[in-house]
Amino acid sequence: MDPFDVIGNLHNIKPVFQPVIGAIDHDVIGYEVLGRIQDEDRWKSLGPFFQDEDVPEEFKEEVDQHLLKLAMDEMLEMEKDGMLFINRNASQLLVNDGEALLETLLLYDQKGFHLNRVVIEVTEHDFDEDFETLGHLLLYYKTYGIQVAVDHVGAKSSNIDRIRQLEPHILKIDSGIIRKHNGDEFQDVMFSLSMLAHRIGAALLFENIEDDFQLYFAWKNGSRYYQGYYLAYPSFDLVEKESLAVDLSEKVKRYVHRQRTLIEERLLFVRQWEEKVKGLLVKWEGPKKADTFIAEVTDLFDEESFRMFVCNGEGQQVSANFRKRDSEWQMEPHKKGSNWAFRPYFLENVMRMKAWNTGLLSDLYSDIETKEMVRTFSFPLTDTHFLFIDLRYAYLYNHECLLQ
Ligand code: CA
Repeated sequence: MDPFDVIGNLHNIKPVFQPVIGAIDHDVIGYEVLGRIQDEDRWKSLGPFFQDEDVPEEFKEEVDQHLLKLAMDEMLEMEKDGMLFINRNASQLLVNDGEALLETLLLYDQKGFHLNRVVIEVTEHDFDEDFETLGHLLLYYKTYGIQVAVDHVGAKSSNIDRIRQLEPHILKIDSGIIRKHNGDEFQDVMFSLSMLAHRIGAALLFENIEDDFQLYFAWKNGSRYYQGYYLAYPSFDLVEKESLAVDLSEKVKRYVHRQRTLIEERLLFVRQWEEKVKGLLVKWEGPKKADTFIAEVTDLFDEESFRMFVCNGEGQQVSANFRKRDSEWQMEPHKKGSNWAFRPYFLENVMRMKAWNTGLLSDLYSDIETKEMVRTFSFPLTDTHFLFIDLRYAYLYNHECLLQ
Protein backbone atom coordinates (compact mmCIF):
# COMPACT_ATOMS: atom_id res chain seq x y z
CA MET A 1 0.00 0.00 0.00
CA ASP A 2 1.60 3.27 -1.14
CA PRO A 3 1.56 5.58 1.87
CA PHE A 4 1.02 8.59 -0.40
CA ASP A 5 -2.17 7.01 -1.73
CA VAL A 6 -3.39 6.87 1.83
CA ILE A 7 -2.28 10.27 3.03
CA GLY A 8 -3.47 11.93 -0.20
CA ASN A 9 -6.92 10.34 0.05
CA LEU A 10 -8.08 11.04 3.57
CA HIS A 11 -11.57 11.63 2.16
CA ASN A 12 -11.64 7.94 1.18
CA ILE A 13 -10.88 6.77 4.71
CA LYS A 14 -13.46 5.72 7.24
CA PRO A 15 -13.33 4.20 10.70
CA VAL A 16 -14.86 0.82 11.47
CA PHE A 17 -15.91 -0.10 14.97
CA GLN A 18 -15.44 -3.50 16.55
CA PRO A 19 -17.67 -3.95 19.59
CA VAL A 20 -16.14 -4.78 22.95
CA ILE A 21 -18.58 -6.67 25.13
CA GLY A 22 -18.68 -6.63 28.91
CA ALA A 23 -18.89 -9.75 31.06
CA ILE A 24 -21.02 -8.10 33.71
CA ASP A 25 -24.08 -6.99 31.78
CA HIS A 26 -23.41 -8.83 28.49
CA ASP A 27 -23.74 -5.57 26.60
CA VAL A 28 -21.53 -3.59 24.24
CA ILE A 29 -19.36 -1.39 26.43
CA GLY A 30 -17.39 0.28 23.66
CA TYR A 31 -15.65 -0.08 20.34
CA GLU A 32 -12.14 -0.50 19.02
CA VAL A 33 -11.54 1.81 16.08
CA LEU A 34 -9.84 0.42 13.00
CA GLY A 35 -9.34 2.06 9.60
CA ARG A 36 -10.64 1.25 6.13
CA ILE A 37 -9.79 2.86 2.80
CA GLN A 38 -11.95 2.79 -0.28
CA ASP A 39 -10.22 1.35 -3.32
CA GLU A 40 -12.64 1.66 -6.25
CA ASP A 41 -15.67 -0.17 -4.92
CA ARG A 42 -13.88 -2.15 -2.21
CA TRP A 43 -13.07 -1.17 1.34
CA LYS A 44 -9.62 -2.34 2.38
CA SER A 45 -8.06 -2.58 5.82
CA LEU A 46 -5.50 0.06 6.73
CA GLY A 47 -3.68 -2.58 8.80
CA PRO A 48 -0.84 -2.99 6.26
CA PHE A 49 -0.32 0.80 6.21
CA PHE A 50 -0.06 1.01 9.99
CA GLN A 51 2.12 -2.07 10.32
CA ASP A 52 4.56 -1.02 7.61
CA GLU A 53 7.75 0.12 9.33
CA ASP A 54 8.79 2.14 6.29
CA VAL A 55 5.77 4.42 6.54
CA PRO A 56 6.80 7.58 8.42
CA GLU A 57 5.24 7.85 11.88
CA GLU A 58 3.98 11.34 11.02
CA PHE A 59 1.86 9.82 8.25
CA LYS A 60 0.40 7.21 10.56
CA GLU A 61 -0.33 9.81 13.18
CA GLU A 62 -2.12 12.01 10.66
CA VAL A 63 -4.29 9.15 9.42
CA ASP A 64 -4.99 7.99 12.97
CA GLN A 65 -5.95 11.49 14.06
CA HIS A 66 -8.32 11.72 11.12
CA LEU A 67 -9.89 8.36 11.98
CA LEU A 68 -10.16 9.30 15.63
CA LYS A 69 -12.01 12.53 14.90
CA LEU A 70 -14.41 10.77 12.52
CA ALA A 71 -15.03 8.07 15.12
CA MET A 72 -15.68 10.51 17.94
CA ASP A 73 -17.88 12.69 15.71
CA GLU A 74 -19.94 9.66 14.84
CA MET A 75 -20.32 8.48 18.41
CA LEU A 76 -21.31 12.00 19.49
CA GLU A 77 -23.77 12.30 16.64
CA MET A 78 -25.33 8.91 17.37
CA GLU A 79 -25.33 9.79 21.06
CA LYS A 80 -23.41 6.62 21.87
CA ASP A 81 -21.97 6.20 25.30
CA GLY A 82 -19.23 3.75 25.98
CA MET A 83 -15.53 3.52 25.48
CA LEU A 84 -13.42 4.08 22.44
CA PHE A 85 -10.33 1.91 22.06
CA ILE A 86 -7.65 3.39 19.82
CA ASN A 87 -4.36 1.86 18.69
CA ARG A 88 -1.12 3.77 18.81
CA ASN A 89 2.42 2.52 18.51
CA ALA A 90 5.17 3.99 20.63
CA SER A 91 7.01 6.00 18.00
CA GLN A 92 3.73 7.38 16.77
CA LEU A 93 2.77 8.49 20.25
CA LEU A 94 6.11 10.12 20.75
CA VAL A 95 5.75 12.32 17.64
CA ASN A 96 5.53 15.86 19.11
CA ASP A 97 5.70 14.33 22.59
CA GLY A 98 2.18 13.01 22.14
CA GLU A 99 0.70 16.49 22.29
CA ALA A 100 -1.34 16.27 19.08
CA LEU A 101 -3.37 13.37 20.38
CA LEU A 102 -3.95 15.02 23.72
CA GLU A 103 -5.06 18.27 22.07
CA THR A 104 -7.60 16.42 19.97
CA LEU A 105 -8.90 14.52 22.95
CA LEU A 106 -9.18 17.69 25.05
CA LEU A 107 -11.07 19.38 22.24
CA TYR A 108 -13.56 16.52 22.10
CA ASP A 109 -13.79 16.46 25.85
CA GLN A 110 -15.29 19.93 25.59
CA LYS A 111 -17.72 18.66 22.99
CA GLY A 112 -18.91 16.05 25.45
CA PHE A 113 -16.69 13.07 24.66
CA HIS A 114 -15.07 12.68 28.03
CA LEU A 115 -11.45 11.69 28.31
CA ASN A 116 -12.16 8.76 30.58
CA ARG A 117 -14.01 7.06 27.72
CA VAL A 118 -10.83 6.84 25.69
CA VAL A 119 -8.60 3.76 25.92
CA ILE A 120 -5.19 3.98 24.27
CA GLU A 121 -3.89 0.58 23.23
CA VAL A 122 -0.15 0.13 23.10
CA THR A 123 1.49 -3.19 22.37
CA GLU A 124 4.01 -4.97 24.51
CA HIS A 125 6.29 -4.87 21.49
CA ASP A 126 6.51 -1.10 21.96
CA PHE A 127 8.12 -1.53 25.34
CA ASP A 128 11.32 -2.56 23.62
CA GLU A 129 11.79 0.96 22.34
CA ASP A 130 12.21 3.91 24.64
CA PHE A 131 10.16 2.51 27.51
CA GLU A 132 11.15 5.28 29.90
CA THR A 133 9.75 8.02 27.68
CA LEU A 134 6.72 6.01 26.61
CA GLY A 135 5.97 5.10 30.22
CA HIS A 136 6.10 8.73 31.28
CA LEU A 137 3.84 9.80 28.46
CA LEU A 138 1.25 7.14 29.28
CA LEU A 139 1.33 8.02 32.97
CA TYR A 140 0.83 11.66 31.94
CA TYR A 141 -2.21 10.66 29.82
CA LYS A 142 -3.56 8.71 32.74
CA THR A 143 -3.60 11.84 34.90
CA TYR A 144 -6.22 13.17 32.47
CA GLY A 145 -8.37 10.12 33.07
CA ILE A 146 -7.43 8.55 29.76
CA GLN A 147 -7.27 4.76 30.05
CA VAL A 148 -4.39 2.61 28.94
CA ALA A 149 -4.57 -0.92 27.60
CA VAL A 150 -1.66 -3.19 26.78
CA ASP A 151 -2.35 -5.13 23.59
CA HIS A 152 -1.06 -8.65 22.75
CA VAL A 153 -0.17 -9.41 26.35
CA GLY A 154 1.50 -12.76 26.86
CA ALA A 155 3.15 -12.79 23.47
CA LYS A 156 6.35 -11.84 25.28
CA SER A 157 6.28 -12.69 28.92
CA SER A 158 9.48 -10.78 29.69
CA ASN A 159 7.60 -7.53 30.00
CA ILE A 160 5.71 -8.32 33.16
CA ASP A 161 7.87 -5.89 35.12
CA ARG A 162 7.11 -3.08 32.74
CA ILE A 163 3.40 -3.82 32.68
CA ARG A 164 3.48 -3.69 36.44
CA GLN A 165 5.19 -0.28 36.31
CA LEU A 166 2.66 1.07 33.86
CA GLU A 167 -0.38 -0.17 35.77
CA PRO A 168 -2.61 -0.20 32.69
CA HIS A 169 -6.38 -0.34 33.11
CA ILE A 170 -6.76 -3.24 30.70
CA LEU A 171 -4.68 -6.18 29.52
CA LYS A 172 -5.70 -7.42 26.09
CA ILE A 173 -4.97 -11.08 25.49
CA ASP A 174 -4.98 -12.66 22.05
CA SER A 175 -7.28 -15.69 22.18
CA GLY A 176 -5.28 -17.16 19.32
CA ILE A 177 -2.68 -18.32 21.81
CA ILE A 178 -5.17 -20.58 23.55
CA ARG A 179 -4.31 -24.08 22.48
CA LYS A 180 -7.22 -26.38 22.76
CA HIS A 181 -5.11 -29.48 23.24
CA ASN A 182 -1.87 -28.36 24.84
CA GLY A 183 -3.54 -26.53 27.65
CA ASP A 184 -1.03 -26.93 30.46
CA GLU A 185 1.52 -24.44 29.29
CA PHE A 186 -1.06 -21.86 28.44
CA GLN A 187 -2.78 -22.43 31.77
CA ASP A 188 0.45 -21.42 33.47
CA VAL A 189 0.78 -18.26 31.38
CA MET A 190 -2.87 -17.55 32.10
CA PHE A 191 -2.34 -18.04 35.79
CA SER A 192 0.53 -15.53 35.86
CA LEU A 193 -1.43 -13.02 33.82
CA SER A 194 -4.52 -13.30 36.04
CA MET A 195 -2.33 -12.86 39.06
CA LEU A 196 -0.63 -9.83 37.52
CA ALA A 197 -3.96 -8.30 36.49
CA HIS A 198 -5.29 -8.88 39.97
CA ARG A 199 -2.25 -7.30 41.61
CA ILE A 200 -2.28 -4.13 39.52
CA GLY A 201 -6.06 -3.90 39.32
CA ALA A 202 -6.22 -4.33 35.54
CA ALA A 203 -9.18 -5.87 33.73
CA LEU A 204 -8.62 -8.71 31.27
CA LEU A 205 -9.93 -8.39 27.75
CA PHE A 206 -9.75 -11.45 25.52
CA GLU A 207 -9.69 -10.36 21.89
CA ASN A 208 -9.78 -12.28 18.61
CA ILE A 209 -12.34 -14.67 20.04
CA GLU A 210 -13.32 -16.86 17.12
CA ASP A 211 -15.25 -19.76 18.57
CA ASP A 212 -17.28 -21.00 21.48
CA PHE A 213 -14.31 -22.66 23.15
CA GLN A 214 -12.32 -19.43 23.26
CA LEU A 215 -15.28 -17.50 24.61
CA TYR A 216 -15.80 -20.12 27.31
CA PHE A 217 -12.11 -20.02 28.16
CA ALA A 218 -12.17 -16.22 28.42
CA TRP A 219 -15.26 -16.34 30.61
CA LYS A 220 -13.84 -19.05 32.83
CA ASN A 221 -10.59 -17.17 33.26
CA GLY A 222 -12.23 -14.04 34.54
CA SER A 223 -12.10 -11.91 31.42
CA ARG A 224 -14.09 -8.74 32.04
CA TYR A 225 -14.36 -7.89 28.34
CA TYR A 226 -14.65 -9.89 25.12
CA GLN A 227 -13.91 -9.03 21.53
CA GLY A 228 -13.67 -11.01 18.31
CA TYR A 229 -15.38 -12.19 15.14
CA TYR A 230 -17.34 -14.77 17.09
CA LEU A 231 -19.22 -11.88 18.69
CA ALA A 232 -18.99 -9.17 16.06
CA TYR A 233 -16.94 -8.15 13.05
CA PRO A 234 -15.66 -4.59 12.75
CA SER A 235 -18.41 -2.57 11.14
CA PHE A 236 -19.08 0.92 9.81
CA ASP A 237 -22.08 0.89 12.14
CA LEU A 238 -21.97 1.19 15.88
CA VAL A 239 -23.34 -2.29 16.43
CA GLU A 240 -25.57 -2.84 19.45
CA LYS A 241 -26.21 -5.84 21.63
CA GLU A 242 -29.15 -7.05 19.55
CA SER A 243 -26.95 -7.34 16.46
CA LEU A 244 -24.16 -9.39 18.00
CA ALA A 245 -23.50 -12.73 16.32
CA VAL A 246 -24.16 -14.68 19.52
CA ASP A 247 -26.49 -14.19 22.44
CA LEU A 248 -23.94 -13.79 25.22
CA SER A 249 -26.46 -14.18 28.02
CA GLU A 250 -27.53 -17.49 26.54
CA LYS A 251 -23.92 -18.59 26.23
CA VAL A 252 -23.04 -17.59 29.77
CA LYS A 253 -26.09 -19.43 31.07
CA ARG A 254 -24.64 -22.59 29.49
CA TYR A 255 -21.15 -21.89 30.83
CA VAL A 256 -22.50 -21.35 34.32
CA HIS A 257 -24.42 -24.60 34.12
CA ARG A 258 -21.38 -26.47 32.85
CA GLN A 259 -19.10 -25.00 35.48
CA ARG A 260 -21.59 -25.65 38.28
CA THR A 261 -21.93 -29.24 37.17
CA LEU A 262 -18.17 -29.71 37.23
CA ILE A 263 -17.89 -28.16 40.68
CA GLU A 264 -20.72 -30.34 41.97
CA GLU A 265 -19.04 -33.42 40.56
CA ARG A 266 -15.78 -32.44 42.20
CA LEU A 267 -17.41 -31.84 45.56
CA LEU A 268 -19.03 -35.24 45.25
CA PHE A 269 -15.61 -36.83 44.80
CA VAL A 270 -14.35 -35.07 47.91
CA ARG A 271 -17.43 -36.18 49.83
CA GLN A 272 -16.89 -39.81 48.77
CA TRP A 273 -13.23 -39.72 49.76
CA GLU A 274 -14.17 -38.26 53.13
CA GLU A 275 -16.64 -41.07 53.69
CA LYS A 276 -14.05 -43.68 52.83
CA VAL A 277 -11.57 -42.29 55.37
CA LYS A 278 -14.24 -41.76 58.02
CA GLY A 279 -15.12 -45.44 57.76
CA LEU A 280 -11.57 -46.25 58.79
CA LEU A 281 -11.18 -43.77 61.64
CA VAL A 282 -11.87 -46.41 64.29
CA LYS A 283 -8.61 -48.01 63.23
CA TRP A 284 -6.54 -44.90 63.97
CA GLU A 285 -4.51 -45.71 67.05
CA GLY A 286 -2.27 -42.69 67.23
CA PRO A 287 0.91 -41.56 65.45
CA LYS A 288 3.05 -44.47 66.63
CA LYS A 289 0.85 -46.82 64.65
CA ALA A 290 0.36 -44.49 61.71
CA ASP A 291 1.90 -46.97 59.26
CA THR A 292 -0.49 -49.72 60.26
CA PHE A 293 -3.35 -47.33 59.72
CA ILE A 294 -2.18 -46.22 56.25
CA ALA A 295 -1.78 -49.84 55.21
CA GLU A 296 -5.58 -50.03 55.56
CA VAL A 297 -6.15 -46.85 53.55
CA THR A 298 -4.10 -47.83 50.49
CA ASP A 299 -6.65 -50.43 49.39
CA LEU A 300 -9.45 -47.87 49.38
CA PHE A 301 -7.51 -45.38 47.27
CA ASP A 302 -5.71 -47.81 45.04
CA GLU A 303 -7.17 -46.31 41.89
CA GLU A 304 -6.89 -42.65 42.85
CA SER A 305 -3.61 -42.36 44.67
CA PHE A 306 0.10 -43.04 44.24
CA ARG A 307 1.36 -41.76 47.59
CA MET A 308 0.08 -41.12 51.10
CA PHE A 309 1.36 -40.21 54.55
CA VAL A 310 0.33 -38.69 57.87
CA CYS A 311 1.57 -35.38 59.33
CA ASN A 312 1.02 -33.63 62.60
CA GLY A 313 -0.14 -30.01 62.95
CA GLU A 314 3.43 -28.72 62.92
CA GLY A 315 4.01 -30.20 59.48
CA GLN A 316 6.09 -33.13 60.65
CA GLN A 317 5.53 -36.42 58.89
CA VAL A 318 4.83 -39.11 61.50
CA SER A 319 4.43 -42.04 59.13
CA ALA A 320 6.48 -43.60 56.36
CA ASN A 321 5.63 -42.67 52.80
CA PHE A 322 3.36 -45.20 51.20
CA ARG A 323 4.33 -45.16 47.57
CA LYS A 324 2.73 -47.11 44.78
CA ARG A 325 5.17 -48.51 42.26
CA ASP A 326 4.18 -50.95 39.50
CA SER A 327 0.79 -51.39 41.17
CA GLU A 328 2.46 -52.39 44.47
CA TRP A 329 2.27 -50.21 47.56
CA GLN A 330 5.71 -49.89 49.12
CA MET A 331 6.80 -48.26 52.33
CA GLU A 332 9.51 -45.61 52.41
CA PRO A 333 10.32 -45.36 56.13
CA HIS A 334 13.14 -42.82 55.64
CA LYS A 335 10.56 -40.13 54.80
CA LYS A 336 9.33 -40.18 58.34
CA GLY A 337 10.35 -36.98 60.12
CA SER A 338 10.21 -34.81 56.97
CA ASN A 339 8.72 -31.40 57.58
CA TRP A 340 6.22 -30.03 55.09
CA ALA A 341 5.20 -26.84 56.87
CA PHE A 342 7.22 -24.77 54.39
CA ARG A 343 4.92 -25.77 51.51
CA PRO A 344 2.58 -23.03 50.36
CA TYR A 345 -0.80 -23.23 52.11
CA PHE A 346 0.26 -26.20 54.25
CA LEU A 347 -0.39 -24.63 57.64
CA GLU A 348 -3.41 -22.75 56.37
CA ASN A 349 -4.94 -26.00 55.15
CA VAL A 350 -4.10 -27.96 58.26
CA MET A 351 -5.76 -25.32 60.41
CA ARG A 352 -8.81 -25.23 58.17
CA MET A 353 -9.19 -29.00 58.39
CA LYS A 354 -8.95 -28.74 62.12
CA ALA A 355 -11.37 -25.81 62.46
CA TRP A 356 -13.99 -27.21 60.11
CA ASN A 357 -13.31 -30.88 60.62
CA THR A 358 -13.48 -31.43 56.91
CA GLY A 359 -11.39 -32.87 54.08
CA LEU A 360 -9.73 -30.57 51.56
CA LEU A 361 -8.71 -30.89 47.96
CA SER A 362 -5.68 -28.85 46.88
CA ASP A 363 -5.30 -27.06 43.56
CA LEU A 364 -3.33 -28.72 40.82
CA TYR A 365 0.40 -28.39 41.34
CA SER A 366 3.58 -29.94 40.07
CA ASP A 367 4.87 -32.68 42.35
CA ILE A 368 8.46 -32.25 43.55
CA GLU A 369 9.30 -35.93 43.11
CA THR A 370 7.43 -37.01 39.99
CA LYS A 371 7.22 -33.59 38.27
CA GLU A 372 3.69 -34.57 37.34
CA MET A 373 0.64 -32.46 37.98
CA VAL A 374 -1.09 -33.78 41.07
CA ARG A 375 -3.65 -32.78 43.67
CA THR A 376 -3.72 -33.72 47.29
CA PHE A 377 -6.76 -34.78 49.24
CA SER A 378 -6.19 -34.26 52.95
CA PHE A 379 -8.31 -35.19 55.93
CA PRO A 380 -8.15 -34.53 59.69
CA LEU A 381 -7.83 -37.88 61.48
CA THR A 382 -7.89 -36.04 64.80
CA ASP A 383 -7.25 -32.48 65.98
CA THR A 384 -3.54 -33.13 65.74
CA HIS A 385 -2.98 -35.56 62.87
CA PHE A 386 -3.77 -35.27 59.21
CA LEU A 387 -3.83 -37.76 56.36
CA PHE A 388 -2.46 -36.69 52.97
CA ILE A 389 -3.46 -38.62 49.88
CA ASP A 390 -1.72 -37.57 46.65
CA LEU A 391 -3.84 -38.17 43.59
CA ARG A 392 -2.35 -39.50 40.36
CA TYR A 393 -2.42 -37.27 37.30
CA ALA A 394 -3.74 -40.10 35.14
CA TYR A 395 -6.70 -40.40 37.50
CA LEU A 396 -7.35 -36.66 37.54
CA TYR A 397 -7.05 -36.55 33.78
CA ASN A 398 -9.86 -39.05 33.41
CA HIS A 399 -12.23 -36.83 35.36
CA GLU A 400 -12.62 -33.39 33.87
CA CYS A 401 -14.04 -31.99 37.07
CA LEU A 402 -10.78 -32.78 38.87
CA LEU A 403 -8.74 -30.78 36.40
CA GLN A 404 -10.56 -27.54 37.17
CA1 CA B 1 -5.74 -3.48 19.18
